[in-house]
Amino acid sequence: NATADFRKVAVLGATGSIGTSALDVVARHPDRMRASVLGAGRDVDGLVALCAAHRPDHAVIADPALHDALAQGLRDARLATTPHAGMAAFDALASDADACDTVVAAIVGAAGLDSTLAALRAGKRVLLANKESLVLAGGLMMQAAREAGAVIVPIDSEHNAIHQCLPPGGDCGGVSRIILTASGGPFRGRSRESLADVTPAQAIAHPKWSMGPKISVDSATLMNKGLELIEAHHLFDMPADRLDVLVHPQSLVHSFVEFVDGSTLAQLGLPDMRTALAVGLGHPHRIASGVPGLDLLRHGQLDFEAPDHDAFPCLGLARAALVAGGTAPAVLNAANEIAVSAFLQGQLRFLAIPALVEHVLAALPAAPAATLDVLRDADARARAAATQALETGVIH
Ligand code: NAD
Ligand code: MG
Repeated sequence: NATADFRKVAVLGATGSIGTSALDVVARHPDRMRASVLGAGRDVDGLVALCAAHRPDHAVIADPALHDALAQGLRDARLATTPHAGMAAFDALASDADACDTVVAAIVGAAGLDSTLAALRAGKRVLLANKESLVLAGGLMMQAAREAGAVIVPIDSEHNAIHQCLPPGGDCGGVSRIILTASGGPFRGRSRESLADVTPAQAIAHPKWSMGPKISVDSATLMNKGLELIEAHHLFDMPADRLDVLVHPQSLVHSFVEFVDGSTLAQLGLPDMRTALAVGLGHPHRIASGVPGLDLLRHGQLDFEAPDHDAFPCLGLARAALVAGGTAPAVLNAANEIAVSAFLQGQLRFLAIPALVEHVLAALPAAPAATLDVLRDADARARAAATQALETGVIH
């Protein structure tokens, strides 16, 4: 019964690649759901334009200095949407029972942790795209979800595929191995030496997926797949030695789940995030996403190959951080965020991204991480160490 279960959806990171794809799916189902909260980082004009199209109750901008600009933009567009600003407003709206029942966590980076955690603690249905929050504090997030009865639907295409291959409730009993597929990114097949001078423009030109700049660089270094190993570990409670990565350049198989009886299940589909978002927005029902089905005769071939650890050391660094545990994944993530941002600004060479992450991991050895404060502190110290290494020219 669609009306009894009418959904109010908060899209945090609404102006981004995932956010706009989520809104595209929401708008296809006016009888089942509407966007009730839209949030963005700094793009006031983009946010106001989305408010004009989707008429949410609330709009929130991360930068507190932009509150008046948002309020003015909403007034000029003659919208009844209430303006809010600051990260605390994200957390308040994500956990408010009247504001939303479903939260699309689509902020990029560790900046998405607090609002995602607030939504989980409030027991919401959370469509989790923000993988960095899971890398930083996955154990605590999963615990918060269990305690509050929150439903997490993974939106990262690989984890969404695994979610679809597992029985309802996500019971991993009988699973022997999870195999994440990777497109290989724009530099697949290239040697380490040939990557010395690649530019940000080349790195963000992904062959199969259209995504925001940060995750596009992560795909080019394979750090994205490394973050996804850690993400899968938390979401599916799977130890590192039962998580594998297979490069699959066509990006049609979104991951595999192998069971103890020799069965392997896979989920296939075109590389379009609206499929995963529809799985979450309709959960547990199937709803249309706007993505057509697969024509395998036209695509022809599915290829698989092993990842190249020499050209792409980030994958191994992430696996080592997962095995080390404690604060190591938080340090890895924070150092990587600083490295990617410096690379995008032309301040760091492509091959120096793994070098910087490795340098910071060595400088801040893994310590036990029982609380959020310990993890936040590790995140802050890793950012400081990475920034210092950049400024002193230790890594360049
Ligand atoms: P994007 O850069 O396109 O969008 C990021 C969004 O976050 C924007 O709306 C931006 O305004 C907002 N934002 C940035 N900083 C913020 C802050 N401090 N506070 C509040 N909002 C802030 O990124 P994207 O590609 O949409 O990715 C979003 C998340 O989803 C990332 O964690 C990414 O790894 C994950 N993801 C994306 C894809 C994809 O296909 N794009 C696939 C899988 C996972
Ligand atoms: Mg992915």
